[in-house]
Amino acid sequence: MRRIKRDDNVRVMTGRDRGKQGQVRQVITEKDRVVVTGVNTVKRHMKARSINQPAGIIELDAPLHISNVRLVCPHCGKAVRVGFRFQANGAKARYCKGCDQDID
Ligand SMILES: [Zn+2]
Repeated sequence: MRRIKRDDNVRVMTGRDRGKQGQVRQVITEKDRVVVTGVNTVKRHMKARSINQPAGIIELDAPLHISNVRLVCPHCGKAVRVGFRFQANGAKARYCKGCDQDID
């Protein structure tokens, strides 16, 4: 089970985009990386591939290492550390180490 899931809101803790916040669009499990909308954007020069894809510069959101982002807790709104615990029904769920609320 991962600390970060798709559609989570995360904050970037290191690097060029430190402090930026965005929604996780993709989790690349095997590489421990996440793609966050609008974060770590790089420009790529593309050759024309078809009429629908003309040549030009496009912006891509490059993956970030999962350790460089922190979940923004939906309860307290802070970039927090996430723990795991079992709920009453036996399901494992994430919880916020800041405000101690279950996240899912
Ligand atoms: Zn919290």
